[in-house]
Amino acid sequence: NQEKDSCAGCGIALQTETADKPGYIPQAALEREPVICQRCFRIKNYNDASSVTVDQDEFLRLLGSIAATKSLVVHIVDLFDFEGSLISGLQRFVGNNPVLLVVNKTDLLPKSVNLNRIRNWVQQKAKEAGLRTVDVVLCSAMRGSGFDHVLEALDEFRNGRDIYVVGATNVGKSTLINRLIRDYSDLERELTTSRYPGTTLDAVHIPLEDGKSIIDTPGIVYPSRLTELVPRRVLQSLLPEKPLKPLVYQLNERQSLFFGAIARFDFVAGAPQSFTVYSSPAMKVHRTKLERADELYAEHKGELLAPPSLAELDEIPAWTRHSLRIPRGSDTDIFISGLGWIHANSSQGAEVDVYAPKGVKVLLRDALV
Ligand code: GDP
Repeated sequence: NQEKDSCAGCGIALQTETADKPGYIPQAALEREPVICQRCFRIKNYNDASSVTVDQDEFLRLLGSIAATKSLVVHIVDLFDFEGSLISGLQRFVGNNPVLLVVNKTDLLPKSVNLNRIRNWVQQKAKEAGLRTVDVVLCSAMRGSGFDHVLEALDEFRNGRDIYVVGATNVGKSTLINRLIRDYSDLERELTTSRYPGTTLDAVHIPLEDGKSIIDTPGIVYPSRLTELVPRRVLQSLLPEKPLKPLVYQLNERQSLFFGAIARFDFVAGAPQSFTVYSSPAMKVHRTKLERADELYAEHKGELLAPPSLAELDEIPAWTRHSLRIPRGSDTDIFISGLGWIHANSSQGAEVDVYAPKGVKVLLRDALV
């Protein structure tokens, strides 16, 4: 069969003899459609492989082995869930290898936002977290904006080494590597993706022209992110794919906002002021009086207050309360990992309560926008 002589992915001549030589394909895999060599098979499937969650210990072992290599570490974080997706202990694991911080999903911010300011903000936060970076690059892996800066930074800092890509789940690692395969690796043809069950969990190696590789590590799971605690269907409504439309709420004290039935924000005390919500448009915000809030939740969770549905709600941990005091004179966000954030616009100070599923990281931070 003529068509089975060469790989449908990269065109190389196929052979079934030597596993570590180019063009290798296991005998049994010749029956698959399309017929592709093992290397292409791995690349094709990294999407699936990287979406499999590994346990924390396994992941840390993998990270720990990076210290013994000579590589450039590319750490991808999600601008929408910055505090949730930053690997704070990364410095310990990478040894002396340089770390390039790539901040993904800039397309979510309103067009008017000054990206230089965001970059400074990120640099400051990374420094506070003890992370030394050779550079911070902002991009949108999905839309492609800023990607030329990513490529430039790779050229500048790689110096003939392998590239290790590390990140939490859902930060856009797969999307970004897809682009790298297209723009930076030596694979000539674009590979269509399809699903092959039962692939290995190993880090996936993507060959580069100079014999080095891009190494994609499994996504790290942080249970402090809302996105890890919800059923898959709810996840879709948490992850925004279009630019955020900030919603401004002029609130008096003792008013509350519900985010579907997934979280609740109470303005407990303070002068009337406005709060701006940055979250996925699918997460419907509902305003009410604080004294009505418990009753509204009991009566309407999973229906008027949705997502999640009533059935999905059963799969999500119960709420805990976070009482926070926004200092007078500050420019502050109330950050809820995986849900987004609420910007307290005035500098008058306020007392607020946030209810979120147990374990979710909730904190005050310097305003991002
Ligand atoms: P991974 O788990 O880190 O490999 O992340 P994926 O590449 O699978 O992406 C996770 C989610 O984020 C998907 O819903 C993507 O569509 C979305 N995503 C990835 N990159 C971007 C981006 O640049 N902007 C936006 N808005 N969403 C993105």
